[in-house]
Amino acid sequence: MPEVIEVDFLRKEVQQLLVGKTVLKGVLIKESLSNLNANQFSEILEGKTIIGARRKGKVLIIDFSKEVSLLTHFLLTGFARFYEQCPNINYQVALYFAGNGCLLINGIMLGGFVKILRTDKVFEEDGVKELGIDVLSLDFTLDRFKQILNSNRRKTIKQVLIDQHIIAGIGNAYSDEILFEAKVLPFRKCEDLTNADTENIFNVKEKVFERSIAFGGESELSFVHLDGKRGEFHKHFNVHKREGESCPICGTPIIMKKIGGRSSYYCPNCQKEEA
Ligand SMILES: [Zn+2]
Repeated sequence: MPEVIEVDFLRKEVQQLLVGKTVLKGVLIKESLSNLNANQFSEILEGKTIIGARRKGKVLIIDFSKEVSLLTHFLLTGFARFYEQCPNINYQVALYFAGNGCLLINGIMLGGFVKILRTDKVFEEDGVKELGIDVLSLDFTLDRFKQILNSNRRKTIKQVLIDQHIIAGIGNAYSDEILFEAKVLPFRKCEDLTNADTENIFNVKEKVFERSIAFGGESELSFVHLDGKRGEFHKHFNVHKREGESCPICGTPIIMKKIGGRSSYYCPNCQKEEA
């Protein structure tokens, strides 16, 4: 699924490619994704100009003139594309721009959303208001991370990393890769982590994110950049979705185990119970 890095790419691409574009026509095909019906959707967006883009966790926020914002949660399989020449293809949501070009959103499953809100109400909305601190936020410091682990001591580190209500942005793939880099087993309880483990996890996430950015993010499922290019980071995962393959460091077969209903992939040799 698009996690923090992928949605952040989209944020930057909206800034670069779409700011200044005015909506000629907004079309909502799949009303179940939205808080509005198709007519309202169309009415509100018509004539509005894109003025910026933001992100909270995995939610992309596109801001328009007149205090209108569009919030998108792509969930597992959603994606967004910008076309200079609009193709005749299926979509769930389309924004056709004055002049030329369109933004098409498709593939979002039940639970994802494309909502229209007043800009000043964005952070009060379901799906946004309950999100924890954003993993790329400057306020997400090592001290804050320690506090978070301290208040979730009975949970496993994997659960805490992927719980969007605690830390927003990290999903299954990045949590597996971060814990591999930090050499920490995913099912260790937060209360059992040493200071060194905690610092390690906090620090290596940057390394994992930077690597992902260098590869254009991960496109294991649906993510593409606005121009349609896929990311390559998933081809370089060390452990995620690599069950049975050799650990790139020690050669031990990678294990998959369900933790809190989510699959975790790890190397039983490199990732330790104790630091
Ligand atoms: Zn290993």
